Amino acid sequence: MIEAADIQITKVETSKLKDLELNNVPFGKYFTDHMLEADFENGEWKNVEIKPYQPLLFQPSLAVFHYGQAIFEGIKAYRGKNNKVAIFRPFDNYRRFNLSALRMNMPEIPEEIFIQGIKQLVKLDEKWVPDGKDHALYIRPFMISTDPVLGVKPSSTYKFLIILSPSGPYYSRPMKIAVEEKYTRAAPGGVGYSKNAGNYGGSMLAATKAKEEGYDQVLWTDPFEHKWLQEVGMMNVFFIIDGKAITPSLDQGTILAGITRDSVIDLLQEMNIPVEERHINIDEIIQAHDKGTLQEVFGTGTAATIALVSDLKYRDINMHFDINNLKIAPSLKKQLIEIKEGRSEDKFGWMEYV
Ligand SMILES: *Cc1c(COP(=O)(O)O)cnc(C)c1O
Repeated sequence: MIEAADIQITKVETSKLKDLELNNVPFGKYFTDHMLEADFENGEWKNVEIKPYQPLLFQPSLAVFHYGQAIFEGIKAYRGKNNKVAIFRPFDNYRRFNLSALRMNMPEIPEEIFIQGIKQLVKLDEKWVPDGKDHALYIRPFMISTDPVLGVKPSSTYKFLIILSPSGPYYSRPMKIAVEEKYTRAAPGGVGYSKNAGNYGGSMLAATKAKEEGYDQVLWTDPFEHKWLQEVGMMNVFFIIDGKAITPSLDQGTILAGITRDSVIDLLQEMNIPVEERHINIDEIIQAHDKGTLQEVFGTGTAATIALVSDLKYRDINMHFDINNLKIAPSLKKQLIEIKEGRSEDKFGWMEYV
């Protein structure tokens, strides 16, 4: 078994940090001084190492380039009160990472490497955690298949890596979204519930076409009727109808079980807002809009936390939401940020101090 102490650390000689203004960086563009790397060979994880952030050298035959066994996670660390750094719900990401690994026929990673690896790496690069409001250090653990052979089979070797990127707020303006009726993100029996790279690759064309039409993202629907609502872009989606919160249920394996989604459900329940996890049809949304009971639509995810929606288009119907009159989404956003930045009590035990 690998213990935390078994992580070998090689530090940089001089930090790159001084050149950067931490509270004014675009999402995912700059990386900290160090990264973590581990290898899976002969059925076990070994060579767990924290070292200077650097390029990787691979054969062109590397399995992941051809057959796409690649999974990842997105986690954030915040600088809170008293300058203490805490990570938001990393154990939930750890469990989800291994679910993704199982679906993609990849080896599971031990908790010691994932959690201790993140904590040691964040601790080492602690000065990179921004202190601006809604700013965070984005943590990206990922795993790729590394056999240098073209035979189609699950790879026998893998690499696990963690990189860190200081980041500011992700989407600043409210989104205009369009219901997608041609392309499909995920189907029952597929890989929609795993956080694998291919789900992102497969979604880009729909997002690009939506942008050409003036929309920021698509609202994904089911693969058969294109009526049952799934997710918004790469975020989970919530609808507020007549004082109730409704979000698609996870039962068909087509929806990524977001940790922000789960946190929002807890917060809504605490606010005494009823939450329904069930199938939702676009016709129900249109009817609610016609009756005047469709109050809010928003997306949830680690990068954006809560993404407000100003416009929702379905065929020739446009539903507009007055952002200044939204109540629930902005309140959730505020509550989440206050818990993450240590300005309100961590009632649910979400924060893990490094
Ligand atoms: C990562 C992701 C989400 C959001 O999950 P969080 O844990 O809240 O960040 C939602 N949908 C998809 C498709 C995702 O990949």
